[in-house]
Amino acid sequence: MDIPQDVQQVIRTIESAGYTAWAVGGCVRDSLLNKKPKDYDVASSCPPEYVCRLFKKCAKTGIKYGTVTVITDTVPVEVTVYRRESGYSDRRHPDRIAFAEDITTDLSRRDFTINAMAWHPQRGLCDPFGGKGDIENRVIRAAGDPNVRFDEDALRVLRCLRFASELDFEVESRTLDAVIKKAPALANISAERVRDELVKLISGSRPELAEVIIKAGGLAHIGIEKISNPKLLRRLPPAKLVRIAGFLWCCLDDRARQTIKIILSSLRVDNRTIFAVCSLMSEMTRPLPKNSVELKKRFSHLPPQEWENLLALRSIFLKEDTHHINEMLAQAKSEPWSRSMLAVSGHDLAKLGIEGRDTGRVLKKLLEKVIREPELNDRDTLMDIAANLKS
Ligand code: ATP
Ligand code: MG
Repeated sequence: MDIPQDVQQVIRTIESAGYTAWAVGGCVRDSLLNKKPKDYDVASSCPPEYVCRLFKKCAKTGIKYGTVTVITDTVPVEVTVYRRESGYSDRRHPDRIAFAEDITTDLSRRDFTINAMAWHPQRGLCDPFGGKGDIENRVIRAAGDPNVRFDEDALRVLRCLRFASELDFEVESRTLDAVIKKAPALANISAERVRDELVKLISGSRPELAEVIIKAGGLAHIGIEKISNPKLLRRLPPAKLVRIAGFLWCCLDDRARQTIKIILSSLRVDNRTIFAVCSLMSEMTRPLPKNSVELKKRFSHLPPQEWENLLALRSIFLKEDTHHINEMLAQAKSEPWSRSMLAVSGHDLAKLGIEGRDTGRVLKKLLEKVIREPELNDRDTLMDIAANLKS
């Protein structure tokens, strides 16, 4: 198991103070999958205040939940005291945080078998639910009775499909039945948690699994009730923005597309992303530019780096042949298309006596010329042209 030395050292330091500690969760799963873990978690019997005293650099990131972050030279390590499943009477927040004595209890509060494994440099793998076998068979299975586990925290229904999509795994049949049965309870989960899991789900290698949750009514509360051709989403690049746009395209008909802003804000998506998704969507219904001049004029509405995404969306969902524009794009991107890219500014024009309202008018004309003939974008040339445009 390829757990970094610094993480192993954290475990040893905690143990030399008389406690037990294990690497847990995502980092164990990803190491078994030969994937580089995003972060490292350690579970231990050591109380968080005491963990802090054992290390030079430590951040109190979640003392209330029993978590502190140890900053090592190479990676941050989240150290959490062993916990047990606690009540979720509002299906949102655990009623109280309950601590546990041992790693096995801690593992049994975790959601899926593949996430419920621990590893120790000497004691090796602790795998009470058969997570290693499920990884080998590429299966997502709830740790314990899926109906009970999803009742405790309904977000798990979405996490289940998210992991299946990210890892390209199948969902075990009883777990899948419970996902479908419990999906409507997602309405009780905070929007931010739903957003994060949903975006990961549709950005993964099986984005069509979103259909399961939609058909089961799990997203009705945010206005998403059906989806068509979800398999097409696979063909989009696995980037967040373009997958969100594609997903909404599959879920909403022409009329319902008016509600995109409302849907995304109800999911607490940030304004920049909302704006970018809306720009992509509105470009879906405009005619494609016919030549590179038209294309550059459209960059002010949808920036050049988003055009590849738009062309992917259009070729997949509108079945358009976008090869020609794709080829134009590389060249057009390297040419000036906005006022700020002109070789002269309003300040330069003032030296010619062009001021006030005239500044905007002349800059606009110059830009039109430069968009047509990029080689004109040279200070002296543009100053000459501007002098002639002076009224
Ligand atoms: P990623 O690499 O995408 O972050 P992860 O497995 O680390 O995946 P996290 O959401 O960071 O996922 O959670 C860390 C661990 O905490 C999980 O592996 C799992 O053991 C446990 N966990 C997280 N959320 C839940 C939940 N809602 N219910 C039960 N266990 C959970
Ligand atoms: Mg994680």
